[in-house]
Amino acid sequence: TLKMIYYVTPTYPRPEQVPELTRLAHTLMHVPRIHWIIADDQPLCSEMVLNILRRTNLPFTHISSPKPFLYKGTNFPRGVSNRRAALAWLQENVSEGILYFGDDDNTVDLELFDEIRNTKKVSMFPVGLIGGYGVSSPVVKNGKVAGFFDSWPGSRTFPVDMAGFAVNIEFLKPSATMPYIAGHEEDKFLVSLDLKMEDIEPLADNCTKILVWHTKTAKYKKPTVKIDLKQFDGQPK
Ligand code: UDP
Ligand code: MN
Repeated sequence: TLKMIYYVTPTYPRPEQVPELTRLAHTLMHVPRIHWIIADDQPLCSEMVLNILRRTNLPFTHISSPKPFLYKGTNFPRGVSNRRAALAWLQENVSEGILYFGDDDNTVDLELFDEIRNTKKVSMFPVGLIGGYGVSSPVVKNGKVAGFFDSWPGSRTFPVDMAGFAVNIEFLKPSATMPYIAGHEEDKFLVSLDLKMEDIEPLADNCTKILVWHTKTAKYKKPTVKIDLKQFDGQPK
C-alpha cells in the first residue's frame, strides 16, 4: 500500500485565509493517501477552517497552537509554534509515513506527491518563485546533492525553503525541533534530524523540475468607503 503523506499546513486568520485554504483543499482532494494536518495560529481552532477540512472528506487533524506573545513583532518567525505542535502530534501518534510542510499559500503540482511518497530519509527538490534568484534548489552532481542554489545562503548548512523537502517519519528523532529564528527554521530543523548531505535524496529529475511554487497572494486592502447596506438601494450613484 502507498505510504501516507502527512501534509502540515500552518495557517492564521486574515481575509485571504479561506480562499487560500479552499484552493489548497481542492489540490489535496486529488491526492490518494493524504492526511491533512492544519495547525491554526490562534487560541482556538477556527470553525471556518474546520468546515473547509470537513468538506474535503480527507482524513485530517486540526490543532490550535498560537505563537507565544513574546514572538509577536516585526521580524518574528512565521508559523513556528503551530508547526511544532503538528510535529509533536506526529511524534505521539504516527510511526510511519511522509511529512511535508506545505504552507497555505503555496502552489503544488500533483506530481510532487508521487515524488515525495517514497522518501527514505529526507528528499529535496526545487521551489519556484523564491528570493532574488527566482528558484531555490539543491545542486545535483552524479545523482547526489553537492550544494545549494539559494539567493540567501545565510550561513545555513541546508539553505532550502520549507516547501523544498520531505521527511520519512521514521527518520524523525525525539530531538527534532524547529527554532524561533526567522530564516533558520528549515535549516535548524534539518540539522536537528542529524541529516547528512549524503542522505539527501534529490527528486524531480535530479532537481531540474519545479513542482512547487512559493506563491504569494496580494494583501487585500480594506475598502476606504463605508457602505451602509440599509441605505443601499442597488442604484448606481
Ligand atoms: N503563518 C502563521 N502565522 C503567522 C504568519 C504566517 O501560521 O502569523 C503561516 C502562513 O499561513 C503560512 C506560513 O505560516 O502557511 C508562512 O507564512 P507566509 O506565507 O506569510 O510567509 P512567507 O511565505 O512570506 O515566508
Ligand atoms: Mn507564503
